[in-house]
Amino acid sequence: MVARLFDAIFGCRHSHYSFPVTIRGRGRRPQAGALTGTYVACLDCGREFPYDWQEMKVITSQSETRQYRAALAHKQTA
Ligand SMILES: [Zn+2]
Repeated sequence: MVARLFDAIFGCRHSHYSFPVTIRGRGRRPQAGALTGTYVACLDCGREFPYDWQEMKVITSQSETRQYRAALAHKQTA
């Protein structure tokens, strides 16, 4: 029931991911990789998500994305 509700809202649970891809250089830079430099793709729906190697987790929620953006902005201004 909960899973079904989840699917209805988000469409995909993103439970299968590709191996994390680290972006090198400035050539191809998908939006998802811009956050941490690494991203994974959902094998079910094809969406790309930032991936944190240090924490070994996929960043899928808006609130987490905002936290990482804030941390990056802090690093750049420090
Ligand atoms: Zn998905």
